[in-house]
Amino acid sequence: MTKNIAVIRGDGIGPEIVNEALKVLDKVAELYGHTFSYTDVDMGGCAIDKYGDPLPESELKKCVESDSVLLGAVGGNKWNDVPGFMRPEKGLLRLRAGMGVYSNNRPAKIWPQLADASPLKKAIVEKGIDFIIVRELIGGIYFGEHKTEGDTATDILKYSESEIERIGRIGFETARKRNKKLCSVEKSNVLDSSRLWKKVMHRLAEEYPDIELSDMLVDNCAMQIVKNPAQFDVVVTENMFGDILSDEASMITGSIGMIPSSSLGATSCGLYEPIHGSAPDIAGRDIANPIGTILSAAMMLRFSFDMEKEADAIEKAVSDYLDKGYRTADIMSEGMTLVGCKQCGELIVENLKGE
Ligand code: NAD
Repeated sequence: MTKNIAVIRGDGIGPEIVNEALKVLDKVAELYGHTFSYTDVDMGGCAIDKYGDPLPESELKKCVESDSVLLGAVGGNKWNDVPGFMRPEKGLLRLRAGMGVYSNNRPAKIWPQLADASPLKKAIVEKGIDFIIVRELIGGIYFGEHKTEGDTATDILKYSESEIERIGRIGFETARKRNKKLCSVEKSNVLDSSRLWKKVMHRLAEEYPDIELSDMLVDNCAMQIVKNPAQFDVVVTENMFGDILSDEASMITGSIGMIPSSSLGATSCGLYEPIHGSAPDIAGRDIANPIGTILSAAMMLRFSFDMEKEADAIEKAVSDYLDKGYRTADIMSEGMTLVGCKQCGELIVENLKGE
């Protein structure tokens, strides 16, 4: 198969981690007889420096016209003082909206080799952590009107039934492929938008009698994720709640550097990125963990290109790398072998096997 991948290296550690993911994709192409071509896209701080705009239309067009997008991360202290509409993260919001990717899928799974890296008690980790947060990505408070008048600031949180329904369906469909348990998270004791959310989820549940639907208030969910994460299979929630809960969920698995994500809409052209940011504190030092980005590339192969075996091969290569005791600094523990970002990518490439 021939696929054109739009590649956004971005800022901070973005270029370092993306380079390692591309090495892995190149090896997969060689082993499985595919051709991956890459189109470079500028987004974030580097685009502000170059064009005075975090995502010019011409760069967004390259993404929309690609078969899928691989993103490192954007942002950094250098651009902290630019006006809100020009911030690097605005580029990311514009990219998600421009691509129409309304569903963000973040797995929270503990690698058995890294169980010690979890901040949770061993007894809780041993019960297992393996769930997915399906987060609505292009609606809600991040996309509502924002304004400041005098000493008062306003941000509007708005959802329509159709926006809730399309993300709800992704939640039910995801649960159907897993353990058939869906937890819908909202704040229906306070917010009208959450009461609508709950109503739509229950209406949808009638179409999915094989799925066990439960409701949970977001504050309780934040607590349950650390108290008893084994209870969750698939969690579906709105944009801001999902943003916060998925960072919490990632931390209990050990390292933010290990976790990939996918964002999809109505077409197979998806956006794939690690869940962490540009980590300016470690940028340029060859110490970042590229595995979140490498696993994001695996998700791209699985969800956008239907390359199941190839995705499995990448995940197996990562698991073998961990089994052999290699660790980047963020997940280093006693008795393991410390490696840098580049060496991590090269070792995973060495572990990759063809059919
Ligand atoms: P961050 O995720 O960049 O970093 C948090 C901590 O985790 C840091 O100590 C960092 O060194 C560490 N870390 C992150 N990724 C790592 C990796 N791959 N390997 C090893 N350690 C890693 O979050 P932050 O510091 O709050 O934000 C930094 C910048 O990134 C900000 O400008 C923020 O707006 C931006 N950001 C971008 C995205 C994105 O592009 N999707 C997401 C979140 C934050």
